[in-house]
Order: sequence, then structure tokens, then C-alpha cells
Amino acid sequence: MNSKYFRLLTAVFASLFIFCGCGIQNAHDADNGQNKSDASAIMNSGTNDAGKTLTIVASFYPVYIFTLNIARDIPGVNVIDMTKPMTGCLHDYSITPEDMKNLEKARIFVVNGAGMESFMDRVINQMPHLKIVDSSKGIQLIKGEGDEGDNPHLWVSISNAIAQVRNIGEQLSGYDPENAAKYKKNTDEYVRKLEAERDKMHKALDGIKNRDIITFHEAFPYFAREFNLNIVGVIEREPGSEPSAKELEDTIGRVKALKVKALFAEPQYPAKAAETIAKETGARVYTLDPAVTGPMEADAYVSIMDNNLKTLQEALK
Ligand SMILES: [Zn+2]
Repeated sequence: MNSKYFRLLTAVFASLFIFCGCGIQNAHDADNGQNKSDASAIMNSGTNDAGKTLTIVASFYPVYIFTLNIARDIPGVNVIDMTKPMTGCLHDYSITPEDMKNLEKARIFVVNGAGMESFMDRVINQMPHLKIVDSSKGIQLIKGEGDEGDNPHLWVSISNAIAQVRNIGEQLSGYDPENAAKYKKNTDEYVRKLEAERDKMHKALDGIKNRDIITFHEAFPYFAREFNLNIVGVIEREPGSEPSAKELEDTIGRVKALKVKALFAEPQYPAKAAETIAKETGARVYTLDPAVTGPMEADAYVSIMDNNLKTLQEALK
């Protein structure tokens, strides 16, 4: 068995055991080497004045990347991703003994909020001393479909990401006042990068006439609102579930009626349903990345958005 297939199998088993709706891995991710399972701890060198290490745990990938930027190069501050970078969204995620072990090391837990971390009650009960940073504070939420609560995919909009980064920076400063000036400086620097990317995307996308898109699960409403795109269909509302024949037929009808040219799959999902729709309608399948998995690097979120921009320019031209 070669190592590529071994890693793929490992990823498949991991997604079976650590069930997570939004994190089904495929060969594409394994090929990209995105599932380096032990890359989750990034250590800054040295210790703070008290000679102690402050460990901050982030709940999952996007808030981990944000926190990594905010705590960048601060001696004695370590940022750890609680879940593996391949985990994806935390819908229906069951917290594991390993996650609890990560949390036990931490003084501060940075979460997305808005209902993404459904296990928070348990964490707060078991670890009453853990300081919680809620990055969703003050952000206007979009209602989910049907009886779902609010849509928790805030970070997919860069404006929300900026608000989340500011929230994290401010709340970290409150819990660790000694480093407040450093958090502030890092926050401002990172926000400038995010604003530059958002401006670039607006310049490129604001003039486009064709604004109808079809996406996978409910990750893109905030992104669509930011760039004035119309989501005219969602292929799989329930993460990981294949659409029924009836749902597929409805979507095919809508794609034909609205002359939709582009279907957007996500790298975290197999694109089978999208390909079926494409075959029936002549629309093309592109990949739009909601930034729920990726490399454990500070610049990853901005790079992902930059790739999304290129994809949209190609797909909607
Ligand atoms: Zn999701």
C-alpha cells in the first residue's frame, strides 16, 4: 500500500470516527498534504515575564488562522488548533478526549461562536476556569434554512473575518493585558491585509453582470452578501448527505431556467452531485473554498480568498 492511499484511508477512517458533517476528506486534500495531523501546534519561542507559557487553543481552522496572526511573534504565547486541520466545520462535532486534553493545557479558548461549537456547554461545565473568546460578538447573523439556528459560517465573508479578528484581539488583550499592545499591533497589521484583499475582490467583482451562483451546503451566504452574488441554489443543505433524486431534478430545472453557468463545489466534498447537474445542464463545476481546511500558515486565509477571486473571475466572466 503506497503512502498516498494510506493517508487517504487514514483520512476516511478519521472522518468516520470523528464524525463531522463538513469535513469529509477526499484524495484532493491528501494530495495537497493538508492533513499533516501533527502540524497543529505552532510554538513561539521563549516565555513571558513570569517565565510561563500562555497557551491559547482555537476551536477549528479559520479561528486558528486568525489567532495565529494576532498572537504572532509574542514570546511565551502558544496557539494550538484543538481539531486537526482536516476536520472542517464543527457541525455535530463530538468533542474527543484528545480535544479535552488540548483544552486542559489552555488558559484561553477562542471559538467561532454563533452556534458552530455545539459542544460548548460541556466545555464550560468541565472547565469553568477556561476563558472563552467569542469571535462572533456583535456580528449580524443570517438565519439558517428551516428549523436551523443562525448560519455560523461567518468567516467566509472577509468583512466578518475582520470583525472576528478585532474581537479576538480585544478579548485576548483583556485576558492577557501584559501583551495587549502586541495583540493590538498584530491585529491592526492583519486587518490591513484583510482589507486589502477585500478591496481587491470588490474591484474585480463589482462590475460583473452574471451574479447567479449555485453552491454546496450553507457555507456561502455571508460571502455572497459581501460581494452581492445571488445564491440561486444549494446542492446539499445537509453537509455530507447526497441530494435526493427530486432535489437534484429541482436544481437541474433551476439551473436551466436561470441559465446558470457555474456550479461551485467545495474542496472538502466530493463533487459528484455537482458533476451530475453539470452533465445535464452544460454548466461548469468550479471549486470555491470556504476556508474550513488548509495549510497551518498565517497567510492561508488570505491565499484561499485570493484563489476564490480567481475562480469567480474565471467562472462568471
Ligand atoms: Zn459548515
